[in-house]
Amino acid sequence: MANSDNHRMPPHIALFPSAGMGHLMPFLRLAALLSSHNCTITLITPTPTVSAAESTHLTTFFSSHPHIRRLHFPIPPFDSSSTPINTDDPFFIRWSQISQSLPLLSPLLSNLSPPLSVVLSDFAASMSFSQLADHLSIPYYVVFSSSARFLSLFASLPSLNLDGIEDFVEIPDLPPLPKSSLPPPFFNPNHFFTSFALSNVQSFRKAKGMFLNTFEEFEMETITALNNGRVLSTMKLPHVIPIGPLEPFNVENGEKSEKGSDYLVWLDGQSDGSVVYVSFGSRTAMSKEQIREIGNGLERSGCAFFWVLKGSKVDKEDTVGIEELLGEGFMDRMKSRGVAVKGWVEQEEILSHPAIGGFVSHCGWNSVMEAARHGVPVLAWPLHGDQKVNAEVVETAGLGMWAREWGWGGERLVRGEEVGDKVREMMSDEKLRRRGREIGEEARKAWNQSGSSQKALMEFIDELKHKN
Ligand code: UDP
Ligand code: UDP
Ligand code: UDP
Repeated sequence: MANSDNHRMPPHIALFPSAGMGHLMPFLRLAALLSSHNCTITLITPTPTVSAAESTHLTTFFSSHPHIRRLHFPIPPFDSSSTPINTDDPFFIRWSQISQSLPLLSPLLSNLSPPLSVVLSDFAASMSFSQLADHLSIPYYVVFSSSARFLSLFASLPSLNLDGIEDFVEIPDLPPLPKSSLPPPFFNPNHFFTSFALSNVQSFRKAKGMFLNTFEEFEMETITALNNGRVLSTMKLPHVIPIGPLEPFNVENGEKSEKGSDYLVWLDGQSDGSVVYVSFGSRTAMSKEQIREIGNGLERSGCAFFWVLKGSKVDKEDTVGIEELLGEGFMDRMKSRGVAVKGWVEQEEILSHPAIGGFVSHCGWNSVMEAARHGVPVLAWPLHGDQKVNAEVVETAGLGMWAREWGWGGERLVRGEEVGDKVREMMSDEKLRRRGREIGEEARKAWNQSGSSQKALMEFIDELKHKN
């Protein structure tokens, strides 16, 4: 039916996020962005979700974007006797379940109308999804939800001999990466995260391209090296398409929480750049001792603060009261100086508030891009996985400082005194603030009419439209 009617049909794009808010968020944003450019979008949603945050965001998203289609993909109960999984992390377990169930998605995708022009899948489902796309003869792209710098390491993993490494990992054409920045599980090939990474990374070469929520000006050297094909000698990586920072999707009026407006009122009462925002993402809980030390540090810092706490990795299981975590008297003493909340907050709304002058962050990549977008300086406290590599990117770009000596999450107890000193140092660093503002400007420019991210996205869409 290659006629002119068909020619004018908008491309139909299916998107497939894996588990965890750090994975879902860029997909929701990308879905809204592609839809605003006249593409027909089907968002595939594996259910049930692990966290409550994922399911509430999906509900809000679809009610605010009625023209985006939802394809429910129920994940069958898992038979761990046939495939044992050596992790107790509920998000990792779900990644594995999703990958195993993907063949069941095949008939659902082939029945979609109009037929799919392209599928975009989470890198955590890359191996199974590439097979599926191949079977259905649909072009396939990967969405990689970390930094380009981490991609350069991740993609090199199969060819690295980590046993023989002394202090640095050499990645051709890029500065060497300190061994201490590698996710600790990478040194154990039997660790779930490593074996899962190894099997998925092999399938990257089957993709037509890789979308990253980053922007050229922020990770110029790495993006250039990746796209010049010089990083990997053993495997040809597909083209990297930097389309960040992705902006938050619009939410219908009335969908925002009441609680949200309370803390914005508090922020409205603070002077510009005076408040430090402290949050470690959607799935990182700290020990009670560490939480107490952070409280002590914020108290010592003398700064106003907005602190988001998590008592457990999965929000549904987070039942400890905030008083119990913080200790008696803390909030009474800090009442006029800070806000501490448990539960979900609208992070971008907070980061965009003029009262915020700094961000103590674990450097989950979405958080880094949000800080960049709003030009907010970062005190990097990487705790797990890709976060030390991301912290290095933050430091190199000049967006923040990194307290290297604090180590990985749980490696040691970071004392209140250290936290207080670093927070004060970041909040009073004028050079960092100036550079933060410049980065915010560069991030905006990436989305100007002829900006780098805008151009990269339009090239992808134009190519699809031509083919349709
Ligand atoms: N987030 C939020 N409110 C919260 C916790 C997280 O809005 O209370 C958002 C945050 O803005 C980011 C995402 O959830 O978009 C978390 O992803 P990130 O990569 O920063 O970290 P992860 O949660 O994957 O460790
Ligand atoms: N955009 C984005 N991230 C940003 C800024 C913009 O994804 O940080 C997207 C936005 O969704 C829109 C496009 O870039 O599709 C152009 O946005 P902008 O606000 O610059 O222009 P306008 O809305 O005035 O066309
Ligand atoms: N983890 C986490 N947030 C993250 C990454 C990891 O809570 O963003 C968890 C992970 O699931 C594991 C623990 O923290 O249970 C340590 O993670 P890591 O990847 O460093 O592996 P491990 O130290 O267990 O070998």
